[in-house]
Amino acid sequence: MTLTIEQFKEEFSQTFEGLYAFDLAQSSPIQQYTALGNFLKVYSSDNWNNTNQEYLDKQVKQVYYFSMEFLPGRMLKSNLLNLGILDTVRSGLKEMGLDFEEIVQAEVDPALGNGGLGRLASCFMDSIASLGIPGNGNGIRYRYGLFQQKFVDGYQVELPENWLRNGNVWEVRKENKAVLIRFGGQVSLVKGAAGNLKPVYTQTQNILAVPYDTGMIGYQNEVVNNLRLWSAEIPPEEEIHYHTIAEREQVNQITEVLYPDDSNYEGQVLRLRQEYFFTSAGIQSIVRYYKQSGLAWQHFPDKIAVHINDTHPALCIPELMRILLDEENLSWEQAWEITKKTMSYTNHTILQEAMEKWPVQMVQDLLPRIYQIIEEINHRHIEKKLLSYTPELTYRTAIIADGYVKMANLAIIGSHSINGVAQLHTEILMQDTLKDFYQMYPAKFNNKTNGITQRRWLHLANEGLTKLIDEKIGTAWKTSPSELKLFKAFVNDPATLDRLAEIKLANKKTLAAYIKQEFHMKLDPTALFDVQIKRLHAYKRQLLNALHILDRYLQIKDDPEAVIQPRVFIFGAKAAPSYVYAKQIIKLINAIADLVNHDPVVGDKLKVVFVENYGVSLAELIIPAAEVSEQISLAGKEASGTSNMKLMLNGALTVATLDGANVEIRDFVGEENMFLFGLNDQEVYAFYENGSYHSREIYENNPRLHRILDTLIDGTIPNIETEGRVIFDSLVYYNDEYFVLKDFDSYVAAQEKVDQLYQDVGSWNQKSLLNIASSGPFSADFTIKRYAEEIWKTSFFTPGAYQKIHLTEPI
Ligand SMILES: *Cc1c(COP(=O)(O)O)cnc(C)c1O
Repeated sequence: MTLTIEQFKEEFSQTFEGLYAFDLAQSSPIQQYTALGNFLKVYSSDNWNNTNQEYLDKQVKQVYYFSMEFLPGRMLKSNLLNLGILDTVRSGLKEMGLDFEEIVQAEVDPALGNGGLGRLASCFMDSIASLGIPGNGNGIRYRYGLFQQKFVDGYQVELPENWLRNGNVWEVRKENKAVLIRFGGQVSLVKGAAGNLKPVYTQTQNILAVPYDTGMIGYQNEVVNNLRLWSAEIPPEEEIHYHTIAEREQVNQITEVLYPDDSNYEGQVLRLRQEYFFTSAGIQSIVRYYKQSGLAWQHFPDKIAVHINDTHPALCIPELMRILLDEENLSWEQAWEITKKTMSYTNHTILQEAMEKWPVQMVQDLLPRIYQIIEEINHRHIEKKLLSYTPELTYRTAIIADGYVKMANLAIIGSHSINGVAQLHTEILMQDTLKDFYQMYPAKFNNKTNGITQRRWLHLANEGLTKLIDEKIGTAWKTSPSELKLFKAFVNDPATLDRLAEIKLANKKTLAAYIKQEFHMKLDPTALFDVQIKRLHAYKRQLLNALHILDRYLQIKDDPEAVIQPRVFIFGAKAAPSYVYAKQIIKLINAIADLVNHDPVVGDKLKVVFVENYGVSLAELIIPAAEVSEQISLAGKEASGTSNMKLMLNGALTVATLDGANVEIRDFVGEENMFLFGLNDQEVYAFYENGSYHSREIYENNPRLHRILDTLIDGTIPNIETEGRVIFDSLVYYNDEYFVLKDFDSYVAAQEKVDQLYQDVGSWNQKSLLNIASSGPFSADFTIKRYAEEIWKTSFFTPGAYQKIHLTEPI
């Protein structure tokens, strides 16, 4: 089925007329976008339907990826690409006199995630469909996404993100597939007819979970999988009980807004409601689907894999137990075997403050039956493990302890697999964070290093580079990312290196034009573009970057005539609204930008841009223009990172600590093609252990750093009285929790090497090329292949006639 330009124009016009009944020439880009989305939905509906039907007919094993967040980015272009009609549609629209890019921009970027975790889930959806794996996403349809960020006087201000304001063309509401979720009330166990105990509920609050499905279109393979997001509503038969607006609001609230916390735990009851809401809805709908097959319960794990993305969906475990015990009358032992075999869990964090735990009372009040089941799981776990382990170790693994329900412990005990997201991270989990569990269940632990989809992050985001790579090595890398290594053959080809430089310059100009338009700042596109884009978090150390900028500023002021490599420092980051320190760092960086950018002595030698409202769409604009990738978290704190991979794939050179997946980036691209600095994780742990770090001594003994730190409190940087003092104190008097001062000298030395190498244009371009050519192993296609083979045991399955993806393991 190939679509010709003429056919497209015809069908698109018809779709438009059917929707709006007026002249296309007078329509808005939003209307054009909506019509195009509708056209695509119809265009791909056969594939969606067929995929479903084949999964059902062949009774293939399916995976359900449960995630509190999905961060898909705009979907129009990637759907066109994956359907194989991007060029056709682009040409057709052009012939019709329409502006394709304007239509693309009309789509609202759905920010249903905070950062890396949600983006990973969406990269996985792309790879799962593109590999032809029967797999579905399960999450929450938040009415409001992550807040929109504005800066007012350099301070972050949060505005609601009403991403549904123009509707959502991609979703299909399926109220016929709605399920009921029970909260609160009392539960008592009553003996049933067969002598077994049955729960009887009284005074529960019942909420309707209504699914909205979105097709996840595979890359040119006729597969369309399903992303199911749940929305909370009042059940029609219970309307009568809701008298006041406040009561009604309480229901809507469940799926009203995404919690804006990233790598931080806030024990709020609404969050627990969200977690149970979407896990219960998802598990109920899976069980209903399974029962259509008529298979016996013992085969459930042969047909269903449930993946728990971080602990937020860990209630999948007691929820499946509840259904099997209470509704399907299985024995505890049977239900437990099935549950464990079905569930697998990814840990995403090392930070203690990000570990979820819920007050016992809260769980008991909100989810009385679920709490009983968790108690029983815990009781049986302890009883069994006491037979083989010391009481100390055994009790450290308890799910319920110190008045809390510990979600990671529940997730580990209730699943057959637990994985970290980079080699170093998994190592730290096994040796430190989760070492008690590693002793008990060594076989459950495994590593699955994160990945990104090269289709969105290279093919779509960087068409210039894609064209060059296609010319040089062909197009196979789109489905066979290890092929990117063939690009290495051009490392000594001057023509290719020149092209690479031209493409980078063009991308920098595009970014500069955006920054001019949005922020009224003029950038020199020949300056070095240095990029740090990620959530604002103390452990990610945007502060270290800021101190380095101040260092440069002072140097220029001291010696305005000295020759220095011009640099543009680009930041993009949102801070959790409740994270005061992170917001103070934003204010500081904005104040530094103000100071530096308006100083005539500085001129174009140094510019600082903090883009507002960082998200997937901005990432797609910034990453192709980046030359330096800042991956400078304190070693041992970043689980993996994925912006490091996206930036490398687009030819940026990485300045990095040996943290998260930076370690593997080093392994693949080689130390000589990046800029490593700072303490390693072992050294950091040694300092923690022997308490021998004293940041104040560094302040007192390092004159260069002393002077930089003083600018925070001596008025050099205007308008940061409070923030400057707080940050200064945290670094100097509160012993600098993330070793910013300790790593400063080595960071600056690495940055000097960056400047030196940048003078040698040929070498720089060679290293850039080697980074691109070494990034194939970080394709999410490989990551997902490993999940599918080693954890989910799902097969690669293509309903259509052909299977295009050929994955060979990267070397
Ligand atoms: C990739 C990505 C992230 C993750 O960035 P890290 O540097 O790995 O933390 C966060 N937000 C967005 C929008 C992304 O695209």
